[in-house]
Amino acid sequence: MQSSSEKTSWFPVMLRLDEARVLVIGGGNIAANKVRLLVPTGARIELLSPTLCPELQRLADDGVLTHVPGLVSEEDVRTRLPGCRLVYIATNDTALNRTLSALCQQQNVPVCAVDDPGNSSFITPALSTRGAVQVAVSTGGAAPVLARRLRAKIEEILPAGLHLLADFMQNARLPLRERLPDPSDRRQVWERFLDGAGGHLAMSGQTEAASHELNSLLDGHTRQGEVWLVGAGPGDPNLLTLAALRLMQDADTVLYDNLIGPDILNYVRRDAELIFVGKQRNRHTLPQEGINAELVRRAKAGERVLRLKGGDPFIFGRGGEEIETLTQAGVPFRIIPGISAANGCAAYAGIPLTHRDCAQACLFITGHAKTDGTLDLAWETIALRSQTVVIYMGLTMLPQLCAQLTTHGLPADWPAALVERGTTPRQRVITGTLTTLPEQAVTEKVTSPALIIIGEVVRHRVCPTPTEPITTA
Ligand code: SAH
Repeated sequence: MQSSSEKTSWFPVMLRLDEARVLVIGGGNIAANKVRLLVPTGARIELLSPTLCPELQRLADDGVLTHVPGLVSEEDVRTRLPGCRLVYIATNDTALNRTLSALCQQQNVPVCAVDDPGNSSFITPALSTRGAVQVAVSTGGAAPVLARRLRAKIEEILPAGLHLLADFMQNARLPLRERLPDPSDRRQVWERFLDGAGGHLAMSGQTEAASHELNSLLDGHTRQGEVWLVGAGPGDPNLLTLAALRLMQDADTVLYDNLIGPDILNYVRRDAELIFVGKQRNRHTLPQEGINAELVRRAKAGERVLRLKGGDPFIFGRGGEEIETLTQAGVPFRIIPGISAANGCAAYAGIPLTHRDCAQACLFITGHAKTDGTLDLAWETIALRSQTVVIYMGLTMLPQLCAQLTTHGLPADWPAALVERGTTPRQRVITGTLTTLPEQAVTEKVTSPALIIIGEVVRHRVCPTPTEPITTA
């Protein structure tokens, strides 16, 4: 048994009841709520209660459920448990509910003590039903009122004809499987159908026109692979574009690197193949040429490949090299921009990148050293007072970067900031000067990814309110 304060992780399943025996203990309105859900499933409902509310009485009179009258005893329940698929307990005696629930759990029969998740082995989500389509909302028993509120919101957006669409798709499933044996081909056709006129036709009951639409998609179907080069932003999933989100839901395969965290990957379609191609401890898991070749190979095999990149693909993201390879290989591709680390970090750290008073330009540069360990940059154009300088990949070379900037004319006390893991819940912002920042980075143990922002704009920093996580409420 579990006390309600313990953290429980509920596992969602859809249970087939057919004609299974289900026990409901209690005869009031709460029991009636559960019976109402059970009746359409065809389950054989045995209801144990000395009294019945009018709704349950009518169902008993109509033979929809079997009423077992009299006081509920532990012994009676015990004898009825074998062969039972589910038990709902909803008497107004909490102690009795708990005893009976423990009994069911001893016998391994799934039990729900209504409004008492701590004494239940399953809970019932709030449901929105449109024929075969069921949308379940659960808070894991934490806040049933919130679950119902969310359900009401979902109800508002579910189209009225959704059940017709589900029926249409179910009827077309078997014939479609025969014509297109590959599941991912079928998914592609269905997605085109839903994106095109098909979905609306089926939802408005125009079955024949919808069939026509589906057939014409089937006739024209030739599997064409593609590559989507998508910027995922600097870390916070709130900063994904709608286009990125959509493609993350459509892709067959996702190649991602180490700037892409689990919070972002969470939004990828569950059955897409995820391939990590990032750098680990200074060595490439897959070198760039290997990534390029993999993109081409998979697209040629007909896959829709998502190359998911941190920030923007065209800002220090090697997107240019990837599309050159794709063009040479004749693979179609799309590019979706992302919010680059400079934009994301600046916004979340409250540092404007340009400012009328002090920064008329903003320069994005790389602080990545060449193989001989030196920095090959045009310092004269970088060390200017009238601009903001944003340095990507500059953490390792921070002392040399700051030294060069002062050598080339910026004051030793010129403002500079470091933003570590910008836009994520672990973001840290460290501000100082060209003289102090390298030392601060060491004492504060700053690690990658970190972005350096240099210029008077750092003095204009104002801390914004933290951005809330994405919520559907
Ligand atoms: N295409 C990416 C940049 C890739 S280069 C973009 O547009 O943002 C990798 C560098 O980006 C890192 O070394 C770091 O300097 C910076 N970076 C990326 N994400 C970051 C983040 N969340 N916080 C701070 N810096 C980040």
